[in-house]
Amino acid sequence: MESTGRPSQPTRVLVVEDDETIGEALLRSLGAQGHQVSWERSGAGALAAASAAEYDLVLLDLGLPDLDGVEVCRRLRQTLPAAVVVMLTARGEGIDVVVGLDAGADDYIVKPIGLAELHARIRAHLRRRASDDPATAVVHIGALTINSTSRRVTVEDRDLGLRRKEFDLLLRLATEPDVAITRETLMTDVWDEHWFGSTKTLDVHIAVLRKRLTEYPDLPRIVTVRGYGYRLEPPPARAGPLTRSAAARAGWPAAW
Ligand code: CA
Repeated sequence: MESTGRPSQPTRVLVVEDDETIGEALLRSLGAQGHQVSWERSGAGALAAASAAEYDLVLLDLGLPDLDGVEVCRRLRQTLPAAVVVMLTARGEGIDVVVGLDAGADDYIVKPIGLAELHARIRAHLRRRASDDPATAVVHIGALTINSTSRRVTVEDRDLGLRRKEFDLLLRLATEPDVAITRETLMTDVWDEHWFGSTKTLDVHIAVLRKRLTEYPDLPRIVTVRGYGYRLEPPPARAGPLTRSAAARAGWPAAW
């Protein structure tokens, strides 16, 4: 379950697929990746589901029994403007793919679906969507402001001048303040999608960040959670407002 390094709050996925075998395979595989998956077998079902609940990602079969997949895509776009829509197409549906992309799909995958490729594309889309979202790019925590668009960390307009990975690590911790995050998840999310076992790099970066954070009052602290990982603890007094960050949209849930 740690294979993607995704923390507790899953990505909400809507699978729209009338083929039982494919639908079941997608449900199982996405569930194993920690996503929260709903399955609809028709276009009408998909539209009803989309107006009843929020989704981060829709996997949409182009060949549905009731409605044209492209039309479903167009209407899903209106109901779920922020969701990533990936069309699932059969070979020979090339023209439909072009029309589907025009209708607002973000990507398409030709069947038979390679699950490893599917998961990689999903991760890429969710990351890209986060970086495209400047409205949610700033995290305030205590006196600290983390701007993931300008990649600056400031305290009362003074720039802490963090290096790249120091910034990424602090942002990752700050997207879930007061939540213990495992070392493996931090390694996976900040350094690479693949984690090979050594977390010395992590400890070095934590040490640097801790030093920087003690230079000012009213800043959050990085707390060691023994045998587990780290937690960013907001300062006890005069805590500023917390806002969702862009990274939160990337599958790093905001805990507030
Ligand atoms: Ca179909």
